Amino acid sequence: MSRLIGVYGAAGCGRGVMPLLRSQYRAPELVFIDDGQAPGYVNGHDILTWTDFLERQTDQKAVSIAIAASHIRQTLAEKCAAANIPLIEVRAASVVQMDEVVIEEGACLSPFVTLSSNIRIGRCFHANLYSYVEHDCIIGDFVTFAPGAKVNGNVTIGDHAYIGSGAIIRQGLTIGAGVIVGMGAVVTRDVPPGVTVVGNPAKPLIKD
Ligand code: UDP
Repeated sequence: MSRLIGVYGAAGCGRGVMPLLRSQYRAPELVFIDDGQAPGYVNGHDILTWTDFLERQTDQKAVSIAIAASHIRQTLAEKCAAANIPLIEVRAASVVQMDEVVIEEGACLSPFVTLSSNIRIGRCFHANLYSYVEHDCIIGDFVTFAPGAKVNGNVTIGDHAYIGSGAIIRQGLTIGAGVIVGMGAVVTRDVPPGVTVVGNPAKPLIKD
């Protein structure tokens, strides 16, 4: 049986995901899909348009959406669902996952990610290099962790939140939907939906 897997997005994120897929799924053909780059070749894999991907004759198709921008991930997830193409999980071999972790479709778990016990995670979660989720966290849909994001126990994170590189979230907090936590921030209080926080202790960003 032939199987074609597409990595949606042939830029930085996609080029980080492709090698993980290569070692995770042995036989299938692996291609990039990209709406903004000319069809071609990158790191040994074809770049196809979405139309070309749909037209390829194969028994099974699946997609991994490897784009950091969460609203684009949502749009593309809906496009895949409309075409009846399932989203697969990408998981580096070094990921540590403890007990009772429920994680919905389409996650990308980079090398050295740790998911501790009793965690719920929504759709298309991106956990970049060395990030972690501690016990009893609840994480929404289309959430993105940059490299080294540290989320301690009993934290709730809303849909589309972005946790910047090296940021630390204190245990027990609620981080609202669409929140952006800046790189290296130390978050010690709840953050309301849509707010950007930076610094140590993290405070709302005042734009001038
Ligand atoms: N892209 C796409 N379809 C979309 C939006 C973006 O194929 O609807 C592609 C875009 O052409 C680019 C990649 O996704 O090649 C996103 O790259 P970017 O450098 O913005 O970010 P990253 O790879 O870090 O997510």
